[in-house]
Amino acid sequence: MISVENALETLFQLSRPMGTEVVPLEHAHKRVLAENAIAQCNQPPFPSSAMDGYAISDIDAGPGATFDVIGEAAAGHHFSGSVKLEQAVRIFTGAPLPSGAKRVITQEDVQRSANQITLGKNITKSDFIRPAGSDFSVGHKITAHCCLKPADIALLASMNVAEVTVFKKPVVALISTGDELVMPGENPERDQIIASNTFGLAALLEDNGAHPKILPIARDTLLSLKSVFDLTQGADLIVTIGGASVGDHDLVAQAATERGFKQNFYKVAMRPGKPLMAGQFDNTPLVGLPGNPVSAMVCGHVFLVPMLNAMLGLGHAARETMRAPLAHAIKANGERKHYCRAVLASDGLHIAKRQDSSLLSILANANALVIRDIYAPQAHSGDMLEYLPI
Ligand code: AMP
Ligand code: MG
Repeated sequence: MISVENALETLFQLSRPMGTEVVPLEHAHKRVLAENAIAQCNQPPFPSSAMDGYAISDIDAGPGATFDVIGEAAAGHHFSGSVKLEQAVRIFTGAPLPSGAKRVITQEDVQRSANQITLGKNITKSDFIRPAGSDFSVGHKITAHCCLKPADIALLASMNVAEVTVFKKPVVALISTGDELVMPGENPERDQIIASNTFGLAALLEDNGAHPKILPIARDTLLSLKSVFDLTQGADLIVTIGGASVGDHDLVAQAATERGFKQNFYKVAMRPGKPLMAGQFDNTPLVGLPGNPVSAMVCGHVFLVPMLNAMLGLGHAARETMRAPLAHAIKANGERKHYCRAVLASDGLHIAKRQDSSLLSILANANALVIRDIYAPQAHSGDMLEYLPI
């Protein structure tokens, strides 16, 4: 049995970085940038007004000063003349500042009568001008190896970058194994259950930048397992679910080995998730997850997400954890690292009473996995504990 940390290190060694592709900005959300993106323009491209009001050239004018309104500038419509002393141009937010203008007086601070304005008592010192390039200038860079969030997409568009080079999505082949499994929507016989793990894992993997492919369920025979393995060509990562324990029907490792799989480890000192195995299948990493639904999902969070990050050029690191106070006392931990399903509420972390690894309803209700180190002593209400947000 190896530690979670050693297992993760081995998985990083098995993970290879993905190639790259160019995608239009509409498809770039949540993709990982593979090459720096460079601004092609200044923003704003010209000095512009930050307010609706009047552009004037007299920088020192105070309350009571009057100006003749000689024209208008709106967003997308510049004023072609220039503003002289005692003149004003009606201006709207985003409009180019007319030549000669040094300041914008907001419309609330002005009294207008016909074509004349008088400055009010409350005018402020602010010029309400956005200088050219005050957001960013040509050459501004978004550095590669970041996952693009909505604000990045807006920034890229504003930088006039219409397409970006990103890492390809890792294709993950997901194989459920078991004679008892049927797909959601089917009518299970009295000794059958619905395959759930594949769907939960597919959602988790997709959420973390992968392109999951759910393969047909493999039955608990070497023939069936081997024929489903034959469908994994082109995958960047193969994930099997179940059949990894030591029962008579746990044939995944044997079937994979007969297809050329080389195992790197089997069994990790964690709870849930002990019967985890990993290795290489024709140069493609293969992770064999335990079949119990909560074990499979916890291993997905703890191992598969960091593996995807590594393949997507985001570095080799365990998932970031956080700390919060415990809402009640808990017992000391045993010889395996424990990922306890818990709810983080306003008064702290509540660890679910039932931690059996088959209980998906408890996992679905949880928003945290509290991490208890091997032989962690008992903890009391108010103690700060490490957890993984889920
Ligand atoms: P195994 O590791 O194959 O012995 O499976 C352990 C437990 O997980 C058994 O109760 C299986 O029925 C269940 N199980 C295995 N695979 C899945 C799956 N894809 N979805 C839901 N339950 C599963
Ligand atoms: Mg099974």
